[in-house]
Amino acid sequence: MPEQNQVFNAQPNLTTIVSRVVAVRTHPLGMAVAIADNVVRPAGGGEPRDRGLVRCAAGHGLEILGADKCDGFTWVFLETSPVTPGELVRVELDSEYRCRRRRLHTAIHLAIRATKNHLGEIQVVDARIEEDAGSALVACRYSIPISDADVVAIDRSIRSEVLNPRLVTILTAKSVECAKKSYRDLFRLSERYTLKGRVRLVCIEGYDVNPCSGLHHPSTDIGPYELKLESSGDDPNQFAIRILPKKVWTSWLGEL
Ligand SMILES: [Zn+2]
Repeated sequence: MPEQNQVFNAQPNLTTIVSRVVAVRTHPLGMAVAIADNVVRPAGGGEPRDRGLVRCAAGHGLEILGADKCDGFTWVFLETSPVTPGELVRVELDSEYRCRRRRLHTAIHLAIRATKNHLGEIQVVDARIEEDAGSALVACRYSIPISDADVVAIDRSIRSEVLNPRLVTILTAKSVECAKKSYRDLFRLSERYTLKGRVRLVCIEGYDVNPCSGLHHPSTDIGPYELKLESSGDDPNQFAIRILPKKVWTSWLGEL
């Protein structure tokens, strides 16, 4: 079986690549194409998939309609496939869209850690980047309803990490147990997930360590944002924090 490298994991900055097609098959959306050096990240872990074009030798670009893992490959769905296995294609991702997703993904890690540091034990019930990558949402359950003062404290804590940035690096551990031993209080794992074997860890230097397979901004300098508290379901102890990136700091909660 031909090999496929998932390039997006090791080189998240790479958004254009020329590579060989290793397999083509039909798909309800048209055709599915597997490319040897794959830069297209499928949706997963609360992060929408990459967007962009696949360009064949003839030059015209076909929009990426979807992407999914199946039978050992990550497939890219196109309306038609003018290529056959062995041919070269050029994949051009929407780099600005990926950049926004990466910032929001790091923002999610920051928001969960800041909330946990402030409140203590919380249950994360949802963490996702919206389809347009315009905002991210973290929904949590706590033992009592949170107050405005809690939201101000959480916002201040996130903002502090943005304005005094820490590095975000990717490491691996032999297992969740090993990661727990190595990183102690910095390690957290949502009870929504059960992980076996080696784990990929997203480490915010000296602040947070969390198993995650997504693409992240390489520092906590995610840029200006606005934080909003939203209701989340009928449970009064459940709340949602929405993070909206802004071009400049327009407002923040609490006094300066
Ligand atoms: Zn992540």
